[in-house]
Amino acid sequence: MTDLSTGAAWMGGAILPIADAAIPVTDWGLTHSDIAYDVVPVWQGAFFRLDDYVARFIASLTVGRYDIGMDHAAICAALTDMVRASGLQDAYVAMVAARGRNPAAGSRDPRDCANHFYAWCVPYVHIVKPEVAAQGTSVWIAKTVRRIPADSVNPRVKNYHWGDFTSGLFEAKENGYETTLLLDHDGHVTEGPGFNVFAVFGDRVVTSDHGVLHGITRRTVLEICAEAGLTPETRPLPLDEFLNADEVFLSSSGGGVIPVARVDDRYFSNGTAGPVATDLRARYFDWIMRDDLRTPVTKALAGR
Ligand code: PLP
Repeated sequence: MTDLSTGAAWMGGAILPIADAAIPVTDWGLTHSDIAYDVVPVWQGAFFRLDDYVARFIASLTVGRYDIGMDHAAICAALTDMVRASGLQDAYVAMVAARGRNPAAGSRDPRDCANHFYAWCVPYVHIVKPEVAAQGTSVWIAKTVRRIPADSVNPRVKNYHWGDFTSGLFEAKENGYETTLLLDHDGHVTEGPGFNVFAVFGDRVVTSDHGVLHGITRRTVLEICAEAGLTPETRPLPLDEFLNADEVFLSSSGGGVIPVARVDDRYFSNGTAGPVATDLRARYFDWIMRDDLRTPVTKALAGR
């Protein structure tokens, strides 16, 4: 049997090793970054909030005008077959819609492209190593680049337009920081490569509402606030206000709630993970084990 433990892909109904999965060089997904995608985590043998991730993906397909010929149930079935075949218990599971190839070489008409769906999974990805996250990570505010404006590329459609993030990551790494956070053209904090961002002021927890992907982890954190005795606020967050917060943290399907100890030369909680972020991090890892939010990989198959 093929070893799929390093990852598997689902392409056209076939399941193959991740290393063998490829798309054609003339696919608009490659030539124009013309892709809508989503990523759902699998944790200890079950998808977390599977229906919410797939619903967000389908909303992205509608806005981005991708027709992949698969509905919610068919997408869930493909993901389930693939993850089950991989044997992975903790996984990063990507579902992808690509614009595809245009049969008329050189055509600029997107309506003629053959849109297609594929999926892939690899062992669970922590965007910040857990041991670093537990101590509080470091964030560099990008200086040479701003987030692509929301009226140019819609950030609520999860996409492959990462040129701004990649520039920010070069800056961050060259200055000795773990990751980067981008501002919009009005000086508000937006998001970073793979995460939303929050600021804590006493018992208020603030995150940006527009110019960002509405992360499922962001939504989970906003819901957790009620049980944690915190008041969530979603609104524009100017950089000055952000830097004056008591605490700052990131949210991502790749690691949950990630405390931040340092933003540029501003240290939070004496350069450690703050108590509110640390508590929310623990609560997130409780929530991803909640039966009502989990779809076991085996059960999802048995139900078909
Ligand atoms: N913002 C961007 C740009 C992302 O790519 C991601 C996730 O990859 C997020 C935010 C966080 O979203 P989620 O919590 O759904 O993983």
